[in-house]
Amino acid sequence: MGINTKIVELVMSPPEPHYVGDGFRVHTFIPSSYRLDMHRMNPFIMLDYNSRYYFPPSDKPKGVSVHPHRGFETVTIAYKGRVAHHDSAGGGGIIGEGDVQWMTAASGVLHKEYHEASFSKSGGDFQMVQLWVNLPAKDKMSKPKYQAISNSSMGVFRLEDAISYIEVIAGTYKDVKGPAATFTEVHMMNAKLESGVQADFSFPAEYNTCLVVVEGTILVNEEEEAPVNHFVLMSNNGVDFTIRAKEKATVLVLSGQPILEPIAAHGPFVMNTRAELVQAFNDFNDGKFGFLED
Ligand code: MN
Repeated sequence: MGINTKIVELVMSPPEPHYVGDGFRVHTFIPSSYRLDMHRMNPFIMLDYNSRYYFPPSDKPKGVSVHPHRGFETVTIAYKGRVAHHDSAGGGGIIGEGDVQWMTAASGVLHKEYHEASFSKSGGDFQMVQLWVNLPAKDKMSKPKYQAISNSSMGVFRLEDAISYIEVIAGTYKDVKGPAATFTEVHMMNAKLESGVQADFSFPAEYNTCLVVVEGTILVNEEEEAPVNHFVLMSNNGVDFTIRAKEKATVLVLSGQPILEPIAAHGPFVMNTRAELVQAFNDFNDGKFGFLED
């Protein structure tokens, strides 16, 4: 390892799964045990991972009924299955395998998320990541917006074997840019690696960086093994690291500039102060988040 190597701080096996609504069976990697509180991976303040799970056919789509969000963005990355969602700002749509929905709740929306109707009817494998991306204080009360990011709009960087690639959702990988507009510096990408292929990454030392192994088994920095469904926390020392696929692998790579501001969080609201949390509850109860039919 070189002097600028960003080393592995932790390889975490998936915590016991729990259900969000009745449609998302998730392992919560952030926040979780160890030191993975909402600050450690900030701006990534929550990460729920639905490892591949078979949902049997259901006439009534499973999911999460109407709920509010304020002060951050929710990003859903679909690996298997299809999700439909709607919000009270008029955003929404269906995302399928390889697509991403990026909802900026900011000042507040009502939101609902369900298995897409035909997927629900047929049943099938379901695998997703949902992330909460923090917003800086100056943007927490900005206008809600929605970005539908189709797989075909993502940046693609081909690796040494010309088959493996890095698929860029947000930020950059080398000279390739991702389509998502972000409020702070966020790099979000999938490394899709054939067996034996290596990819190298470089992010500023202070950026909080982690990996989720979505498929296959990887070697980080040629020495730390991380199997499927494991979470890898990278240290804040060093800049460069490598991932090698021990078998065909898909790895979600996240790196972001920390937002160095206080966090006051309760349920679906993530603000800077307790007073702002109280305001969020009052505004929600007063109907200021708009209307969304269940
Ligand atoms: Mn939601």
